Amino acid sequence: MSEECTHDCSTCSSNCASKKESLLAPNNAYSSIGKVIGIVSGKGGVGKSMVTSMMAITMNRRELKTAILDADITGPSIPKIFGVKGPVTGDDKGIAPAVSKMGTKIMSLNLLVPEETTPVVWRGPVIAGTVKQFWTDVYWDQVDWMFVDMPPGTGDVPLTVFQSIPLDGIIIVTSPQELVSMIVAKAVRMAQLMNVPVLGIVENFSYLKCPDCGKEISVFGPSHVDEVAAEYGLDVLARIPIDPTLANLCDKGALELMECDVMEAAADALETKLA
Ligand code: ADP
Repeated sequence: MSEECTHDCSTCSSNCASKKESLLAPNNAYSSIGKVIGIVSGKGGVGKSMVTSMMAITMNRRELKTAILDADITGPSIPKIFGVKGPVTGDDKGIAPAVSKMGTKIMSLNLLVPEETTPVVWRGPVIAGTVKQFWTDVYWDQVDWMFVDMPPGTGDVPLTVFQSIPLDGIIIVTSPQELVSMIVAKAVRMAQLMNVPVLGIVENFSYLKCPDCGKEISVFGPSHVDEVAAEYGLDVLARIPIDPTLANLCDKGALELMECDVMEAAADALETKLA
């Protein structure tokens, strides 16, 4: 807060902590939410929804109550990955989220539109407003860990989501073929502006395991994630291989049946860092 603070945030250009507070949307009065983790990426297609889902599944297997708020409004893939369908219903407490077979609560625009193929042709403020409503109007009953599949990039929409949902930390998802250094720099900067800790980086599409000899092949060339993580003092929480089984399970809406335990260390890290 500046010394000349007038306490009128609407006319102030400063990005101080108290302003961030003032933009946070109140959650539904009946919600009870523990930790809220945002999953961010520099662009679409790097596996942000995959990481969000795998984190929730891993926490859920620890007997913790999990939820996913799908804030990726223009590319909502979470309901498909968990095989849940809308429409969701509401009562005087608010909108009840869908619940997956293993008990993860889910809210996504695809649970509100008539067909999952309906495109969302909305401008930024409408998208950001919808995400805010997923926080304020949905009745998130007894959630220990909520994972927010953030809109990709660092533009207006992710920024508004950052400002309106009280995140306890973010996880940055990268892939080896990206300009990792730039992506991480931007995400770290955005998190600093919003006063949200970066919990670490997950590298997706890291390698392909040869089905015959087990050798790990770096399909996209050598990874630079360790150097970049060291530069920013961040942990690499997980390296996820290219795994057709995971893709198939997503297509079948059955990722909860995954056998891979690649996110266990990431789940340990979250439980330790946010204890
Ligand atoms: P994003 O949320 O960043 O747009 P997704 O999580 O939707 O990306 O992933 C994009 C596509 O890649 C999906 O079809 C998904 O099933 C597939 N995919 C993601 N990660 C992996 C992986 N590690 N192995 C195989 N397929 C993957």
